[in-house]
Amino acid sequence: MTLSLSADIQPSSERSTGSPRANGWRGLIEEYRAYLPVSEKTPVITLHEGNTPLIPVPAIAAEIGKNVQVFVKYDGLNPTGSFKDRGMTMAISKAKEDGAEAVICASTGNTSAAAAAYARRGGMRAFVLIPDGYVALGKLAQALLYGAEVLAIQGNFDRALEIVRAASEQYPVTLVNSLNPYRLEGQKTAAFEVVDVLGDAPDWLCIPVGNAGNITAYWMGFCQYHQERRCTKLPKMMGFQAMGAAPMVTGHIFEHPETIATAIRIGNPANRDRAIAVQHASQGTFNAVTDDEILDAYRLLASGEGIFCEPASAASVAGLLKVKDQVPENAKIVCVLTGNGLKDPDTAIKHSRSQFKQGIAPDLTSVAQAMGF
Ligand SMILES: *Cc1c(COP(=O)(O)O)cnc(C)c1O
Repeated sequence: MTLSLSADIQPSSERSTGSPRANGWRGLIEEYRAYLPVSEKTPVITLHEGNTPLIPVPAIAAEIGKNVQVFVKYDGLNPTGSFKDRGMTMAISKAKEDGAEAVICASTGNTSAAAAAYARRGGMRAFVLIPDGYVALGKLAQALLYGAEVLAIQGNFDRALEIVRAASEQYPVTLVNSLNPYRLEGQKTAAFEVVDVLGDAPDWLCIPVGNAGNITAYWMGFCQYHQERRCTKLPKMMGFQAMGAAPMVTGHIFEHPETIATAIRIGNPANRDRAIAVQHASQGTFNAVTDDEILDAYRLLASGEGIFCEPASAASVAGLLKVKDQVPENAKIVCVLTGNGLKDPDTAIKHSRSQFKQGIAPDLTSVAQAMGF
């Protein structure tokens, strides 16, 4: 006798229109299989990434006025805390399919956390190169605990990327940076989710830009859904960089990129040409925001909306506020929040404006007095 508890669960490789499946989400490869370069033979290595919430942010919309609706795509709620999981489930599954035993990446932190988690889950070694001293604490903690072999170099991300590219050509290790085409294939599913929830593409997509893979991937996703007639329009792609690391804005490489937003501290983006093509095709723009503007948006998201993202992610909201004069009336805008605030507790504590009264005597009178009563 066979007893199946799951007899009434319908396979959903063909997704019905409307809201995503809140329950029983199986990870983005299974949910979007029809749109991804996988086959029956691909071993699916997943932590059930994707299906992240699209959250309205009315306090930010109010700063813009014009009857706009603003949402954040909170990709910091992925399994390792950033959108990098979307690309990594694909890159690692395909590496496994090809028989790889080890993967390598350069990282400002989040790629290393995701590569480590997915590679270890797939039984592979993960080598990660990071810029010594410029990786947020949470990200380093993750890579180490997931069991990556972490190599901190005395150089920046751009140098680390040059080294891992060469390593993957000369040694038996598969490159899983966003030069790996499967990364962008996985990442494009975030655009699918946005459309699945909104019912159409937004008017604007605001996104932080570092190596420029994610902006390219979102555009791929919107275009693919548009071709399949799952949306009727395409968004303007609005890319935002930190002023101290803004090669897409100025058109020249930054030899010494500097910003508090370490996840986008990149001076020579690997996907520059593709991102320029996206800008032209979508009639979007690249703009730069200062570290102070990033920190203002970071605090506003947390204390005004209850959403804790990492500094690089706040660049999308900082950017939107900076160019708010260009926002059309009644627009629907999505800002991508690429990573979770818990990744970088140092920056949060250092730049919070909240009162933190310490050393209070342990009695009601003292506590009430400190409360201002
Ligand atoms: C990787 C990353 C980015 C930049 O994405 P690119 O694809 O390199 O442009 C932005 N924010 C966070 C939190 C990231 O981890």
